[in-house]
Amino acid sequence: MKKWQVGKFVVTEVPEFQIAVGLLDGVIAEATPEVVRAIGWMHPDYATESGQTLWDVHSYVVDTGDQVILIDAGCGNGKSYPMQPSWSGLDTPFLERLEQAGYGREDIDIVLCTHLHLDHVGWCAMKNDEGHWVPTFPNARVTLVQAEYDRHLSQLLSPEEEEATAGAGPDADPIARAFMADEVSLSKQTRLIQHETFEPIVEAGLLELVPTNGEVVPGVRYEETLGHTAAHHSVRLTSEGESAFVTGDFIHHPMQIARPEWSSKGDWSPEASGRNRRAFFEACAGTNLLILGTHFTGPGAGYIVSDGDGFRLAENEPS
Ligand SMILES: [Zn+2]
Repeated sequence: MKKWQVGKFVVTEVPEFQIAVGLLDGVIAEATPEVVRAIGWMHPDYATESGQTLWDVHSYVVDTGDQVILIDAGCGNGKSYPMQPSWSGLDTPFLERLEQAGYGREDIDIVLCTHLHLDHVGWCAMKNDEGHWVPTFPNARVTLVQAEYDRHLSQLLSPEEEEATAGAGPDADPIARAFMADEVSLSKQTRLIQHETFEPIVEAGLLELVPTNGEVVPGVRYEETLGHTAAHHSVRLTSEGESAFVTGDFIHHPMQIARPEWSSKGDWSPEASGRNRRAFFEACAGTNLLILGTHFTGPGAGYIVSDGDGFRLAENEPS
């Protein structure tokens, strides 16, 4: 398992699954195979030889020495995801891998989610032996940014509103269904996520809402990175003079390091997303800020350096 030291914090990547090659083709419209092939550092870590982008789903465990924090909670097992049917009903050994990393379910003290899309929250709850949804991490408070939780809930329509509005229908193409969903599909998906993932947390009294840019524990802080959603936050880790940055979907794929303005389909604001990425890269290029990419394959992490009009992810810390 990939591991990094950030000051006295130990960060471990816990894999959930590799996304099937091709499933997310077209999510970044400009990133055609020809263009991806032309960016030398994409293959083999972040794209196939033919230029199809590679993605995975994973979580990070940050062990501060005092607290054990899980950042982003993947899709989870056995969930209902009509917007992304291939991630419904999963049965991955995520918890076994967490165990291999040295952490049982009871060891997690805090769960953070960069945003509340279905592939970042699933493991907040799991089905118990009686078939009920219960908190996966019985001792963990799930600490979310209030504005992002409100945004998620605002997608719920009343049954009457759902009835009165037409949905996308079963033949919408998979990218459109997952990333540009109509409001009825979004509402139904949001209700399922509430039922299967957040209601068990709320009922157990484990949900904690924090303000925008909120610090969670010393050295672990949400950092607003708007664009992918209207209240998306990345997470900044700081310990003993070293720092790291967990991207969430602010940097959805490393292609967006090479071409910061290329946004993902379904971004709440493609324009803000691109503008905020470029500003972020300009601020951290050449520094020793470790970038931990939430959907990044290959080494999964690196340092931003300037590269022509764009940037590149370098494996080695700039000297
Ligand atoms: Zn997302």
